[in-house]
Parts: sequence; C-alpha cells; structure tokens
Amino acid sequence: MLVKNSDVWYSEYHSEDDVKLSFKIDEVLHTEQSPFQEIQIFKNETFGNFMVLDGYVQVTEKDEFVYHDMITHPAMAVNPDVKRVLIIGGGDGGTAREISRYPSIEKIDMVEIDGAVVAACEKYLPTMSSVYAKEPRLNLMILDGLKFVAEAPDASYDLILVDSTDPAGPGEGLFTVEFYRNCHRILSKDGILINQHEGAFYDGDIEEMMKAHAKIRKVFPVARVYGFNTPTYASGYWYFGFASKTYDPILDLKADAWNGLGLKTRYYNTDLHKGAFALPNYVKEILASVQV
Ligand code: SAM
Repeated sequence: MLVKNSDVWYSEYHSEDDVKLSFKIDEVLHTEQSPFQEIQIFKNETFGNFMVLDGYVQVTEKDEFVYHDMITHPAMAVNPDVKRVLIIGGGDGGTAREISRYPSIEKIDMVEIDGAVVAACEKYLPTMSSVYAKEPRLNLMILDGLKFVAEAPDASYDLILVDSTDPAGPGEGLFTVEFYRNCHRILSKDGILINQHEGAFYDGDIEEMMKAHAKIRKVFPVARVYGFNTPTYASGYWYFGFASKTYDPILDLKADAWNGLGLKTRYYNTDLHKGAFALPNYVKEILASVQV
C-alpha cells in the first residue's frame, strides 16, 4: 500500500520510553500476524525495504551487510576448515547468503521457526533471500531451533550461527542454558557458536546481554563478545557472542588464510576483527560483573 499525501512514520523505542528511532514510510509492503509473531515490511527512502518483527527492526536493505558480515566471517577467519554449518533463525536469508560464499563448506542446515518470514522475505528482501533458490548446499527446515538442537546427533556441526530475534516470544528458548548445552553437545570438538548477543547501552538490552553471557559461560570454556555498528539497532552498536570449545578468537585468528580466500566484504576485515573484540571499558565492566 503506497502512502500518499500523508506523513506515516514507523518508530521503535530504543530506551524504555523516551528515545526512539523513526522511519518515514513510503510504502507498507507487507503486514501479517503469523502463528509466532507480527511481520511487517516497509519501504523507506534511505534504508530501502526493512522488516520489523513484533515491533523490532530486524533487517534493512541499507545496513544488513554489517550484521551479516559480522555473524559469519569472524568465525570463518578463526577456523577456515569449517565444513558443517547450522544456522538457527536467519529467516531473511542474509546469514545463509554470506556463509554460502565459502566453497569449502559442505553442508548448510538452516532451522527457521516461521515459514511466513521466509515467504515475505523471498518477496520483499531478494538481496538476502535469493540464496534460497540458488544454494544447493542449503537445507532449510521450518522448525523450532530449541527442539532441533535437542534432537540433533552429537558432534554433527563445526559452526552454529544463532541469528535470532530478541529473548522474547519465539526467540526466548534460544537464550536458555538448555539450548546452549545442546549446542555444545552437537558441536565438534573444536566447534564454535556465534549468537545474537544483544546491546550494552540501554538498560533493557544490558540485562539481556548479561543473562545470556552468564548462561554461555556456564557451558563453553571460551565465551567472548564482539561488537559492530548497525545504525538501525538500539544505540547503533550491537554485539555477537563468540563461544567455543578450543579456539580463542584473537590468538587463533588465521588472517593470512582468510585473506587468501579473496572474499570481498563491505564491513569485515581481519584488522577490524581484532578491534571488534577490543571492548570499551564500560562493556568490559558489564561483562566482568556477570555472576556465572
Ligand atoms: N538480525 C535480527 C536481529 O538481530 O534481531 C535477526 C534477524 S532474523 C529475521 C531472526 C529470525 O529468528 C526470525 O526470522 C525468527 O522467526 C527466527 N526465530 C525466532 N525464534 C526462533 C526459534 N525458536 N527457532 C528458529 N528460529 C527462530
């Protein structure tokens, strides 16, 4: 539905109730209440088409490259020998697109709970979702990630990428000790888990970041956090968790091997990799104060 002769804005609160980010809406492309969440896709002149789930911006055509570079490439630069990948969530397709750029990867299983998200993204976010039609190694399953990891065999993946919504609604189960324990069990002996790890600026996000970090540190010997700049997420700076059984994200970085692959990326590079793990003091203090 084209918005004409009127001023329609979509706003998302970033703080509890006094800070918000607003987008002028040129077109309402899609609105749907699925069995799991409210799905909205809008058109904005600056950010292009963007998707909102349950009132939270998930992805925009303009800044998605940051999030999808940073969920994928750091782990691959630490272990370029990854062969078996599991993506949990990621219905827009951006994470599957980036990981499928590695010819050495043999299997890409993807478990997305909401088929309606995939269908809407296939229609309105083709720069990300076109991978679904193109990638033969991609095995897309419409299932709950929490249930899938509970039933998957031991040591069946080398890398798990949790590209989830926030820890509420369908995404809640993906921030539990049970989920992290099963991820640990189904990862190979030097497996890596990357998860959407919330923000460190607004109180609500800090609380979720601390809760997730405490649970991951209970399960994985290596539990680090790294940051990236996504303009449409709260405070413009967000974090991923890097959890592993053996690898240290800095000491085991294989910069020459990764650069040797010749992958062209718009955000990630192996220098930025080191910077992303070099956290500001206030974030170090937040994570250091976590009770495990
Ligand atoms: N970049 C976004 C963010 O950080 O907020 C995430 C994008 S991606 C669209 C999130 C996906 O996780 C959604 O498609 C949602 O349906 C999916 N999801 C939420 N809970 C899930 C679950 N329990 N199992 C599998 N997928 C889930």
